[in-house]
Amino acid sequence: MNWITKFIKPKIKSLFEKKSSKIEENLWTTCGCKNLIYKEDLESNQKVCPKCGAHHKLTCKERFETFFDNKEFELIETPLPKEDPLNFEDKKKYTDRLKSARKLTGQDDAVLIAKGKVQNIDVVVGSQDFRFIGGSFGAASGEAFIAGAQHAIENKVPYIFFSCSGGQRMMESSIALMQMSRTALAVNELKKKNIPFMVILTDPTTGGVTASWAMLGDILIAEPKATIGFAGRRVIQDTVRETLPDEFQTAEYVKDHGGIDLVVERKYLNTTIGTLLNVLLKKQEAQAKQDSNVTVDKSLQAAS
Ligand SMILES: [Zn+2]
Repeated sequence: MNWITKFIKPKIKSLFEKKSSKIEENLWTTCGCKNLIYKEDLESNQKVCPKCGAHHKLTCKERFETFFDNKEFELIETPLPKEDPLNFEDKKKYTDRLKSARKLTGQDDAVLIAKGKVQNIDVVVGSQDFRFIGGSFGAASGEAFIAGAQHAIENKVPYIFFSCSGGQRMMESSIALMQMSRTALAVNELKKKNIPFMVILTDPTTGGVTASWAMLGDILIAEPKATIGFAGRRVIQDTVRETLPDEFQTAEYVKDHGGIDLVVERKYLNTTIGTLLNVLLKKQEAQAKQDSNVTVDKSLQAAS
């Protein structure tokens, strides 16, 4: 590849080149800011637009690579429940939708769980792939979420989850809705065991995911400009009959109104979460020490 290929945009480039190659066109991509971006530049920048700072969606594996120390992680196998228990069909069969989503993503379902280190602290991390039927959350996602929580509890390591979902999976109806209470119970188990649980809300986090585990983290962080909400903007506007501000349901707006704690750029997530975990774990250690001292005091009192 020469400098013309890399730095000159496709239209101008066609003046220089005799043959227009479709493969070369694919080297470029667009962003919401309407700028043409060289794909390699976007990828080397953790898929954050170098022109406007928009955080593009990541696949689960890309997420793990950008988040874990030294891009090192190990996937945790999660159970796969019976698929399509309701024989659901709309314009397409649900089984066909699953087949094409699996082909597109190379995953069994929308959620992947992995373990690795963040700032040298062992963690379990979950992530959702939006390309898998809109990151929708059904039985398989629920099983994966719970398997991740169990792994975190058994190994006494923090659980971190990156949400990216339109909500519960319509094709699994009430089975998908049940995952909201199942995941909330799993989070409750983490809290009982004093295991830190953090959620990073990425674009978009809406519907049943927002209404369950995604808002139950000890610390809630969002990527800049991520859409965070439950019902869609139009539905709310038609219900309250008021014009909503332009920035309504953006990460920054939700933070300013007390819905989340922090908005953090992708490149700072590893260090920010590492620092927060350090503080949380040290506090826990100090608390455990204090508790054991109290126990010793009490047993001495009882003995005297
Ligand atoms: Zn952009």
